[in-house]
Amino acid sequence: MKIYNTLTKRVEDFKTNTPGKVAMYTCGPTVYHFAHIGNLRSYICEDVLEKTLRYVGYDVKRVMNITDVGHLSSDGDTGEDKMLKGAQREHKTVMEIAKFYTDAFFSDCKKLNIKTPDVVEPATNCIPEFIHMIEVLLEKGYAYKAGENIYFDTSKLKDYFVFGNQNEDELMVGVRDDVTEDTNKKNKNDFVLWFTKSKFEDQALKWDSPWGVGYPGWHIECSCISMKHLGEYMDIHCGGVDNIFPHHTNEIAQSESYLGHKWCNYWFHVHHLNDREGKISKSKGTLLTVSYLEEQKYDPLVYRFFCLQSHYRKPLEFSFDALDNANAAYQKLKKRCLEVKAEAEKNAGASVNKEVFDEFDAKFKDALSNDINTSMATTLVYDVLKADISATDKIALIESFDKVLSLDLTVEKESAAPAVDPEFEKFILEQIELRKAAKKEKNFAEADRIRAELLAKGVVLEDTREGVKWSIK
Ligand code: AMP
Ligand code: ZN
Repeated sequence: MKIYNTLTKRVEDFKTNTPGKVAMYTCGPTVYHFAHIGNLRSYICEDVLEKTLRYVGYDVKRVMNITDVGHLSSDGDTGEDKMLKGAQREHKTVMEIAKFYTDAFFSDCKKLNIKTPDVVEPATNCIPEFIHMIEVLLEKGYAYKAGENIYFDTSKLKDYFVFGNQNEDELMVGVRDDVTEDTNKKNKNDFVLWFTKSKFEDQALKWDSPWGVGYPGWHIECSCISMKHLGEYMDIHCGGVDNIFPHHTNEIAQSESYLGHKWCNYWFHVHHLNDREGKISKSKGTLLTVSYLEEQKYDPLVYRFFCLQSHYRKPLEFSFDALDNANAAYQKLKKRCLEVKAEAEKNAGASVNKEVFDEFDAKFKDALSNDINTSMATTLVYDVLKADISATDKIALIESFDKVLSLDLTVEKESAAPAVDPEFEKFILEQIELRKAAKKEKNFAEADRIRAELLAKGVVLEDTREGVKWSIK
């Protein structure tokens, strides 16, 4: 297994701390709003990574946090509190907002066939762990108190910028520049571990601490939650590229200062989903959510398919034209898989040719083991369909590949209906009704004319015992 490591900027052999086992951590969502499809690109790619590791034989334990406190609108500890902003927007309590958007996140994940990590822990569950880590950092001299907050002192580290030579603009990707500087900080990059005083006197969630009533900074949660469930050594840590700085840089600073040794060996970062105007975000235009895609009649798995066609280390440009292309390709591929499945079912009981299976399966594993090459892995489905092998072998391979791809290629379901413009769908249904009426009146010429007109528009009608079914050519 080879994987790109942001820490070394190289594709490396993947070696775990304990042979055969992987300790994996994912930065979870900030639950103040729906996840947009950009966020979900990161979670789709991380899901493929986890499933690949399992597919090639690792025993994976994956942990994810839920950020329900401490994340300010600038990743650099300033700006408004995201959770509080969400609560005010919807006239609800912070905990109501957190519950609602946590559920919404997992419902979106389910629609995208993203597996829930083995452990999911909200930050508000772990306040004693945060306090303990901050106490140790203070004792060891890595933290200081100023203006009644506790800060991490980045000047105490020989190498704070572990991810290396980003230029200033890249470093500031998560940090808005229209927010006032925190004058308590001794060094520009110092970050808050615990707030007892901020611009927000009305911070909704507060806890007692040795430094007064307050709440944790954002970064501390991932260090503590990962150590709580994975111990002192982690194999691989994931997030979107905007997490590299300051979030992951700060996670490493505090974790390794606390532990006194190296913490995580591999860092996996997914590049952004952009639209033509730039990065997709929650503060711009229409919020592109899974529900929005569904309203536009797309099967959410079409979006997963769209993401798998590109490499996670390249920015991906989203447009509805591109999604339409993915939709057409996905529907065609799925149709073909279902046809082969029907063929295989006619031969139920036929055994799978192990040699054939292993040959294609090895190619699939190679593609994914080569830094998660999902487009090549998807191409292998086409290769299997084209190959001169039995339908039974084809379906065995495709169902096996789908454990990672998770595109439901051999699952028949309602939502696999092609995405068409709602107006066009209305027109199709009206024409079907008119054709039915014409047939009833024995006006077969009219019925045929309607069928031909629909066919000219790419709509194929099929008369079945259950009624007329339509599909797009
Ligand atoms: P958040 O809920 O803001 O903490 O973000 C959740 C995850 O989505 C993080 O791993 C981010 O790095 C990632 N993310 C944010 N925006 C994008 C985007 N446009 N494309 C891909 N991933 C993103
Ligand atoms: Zn994190």
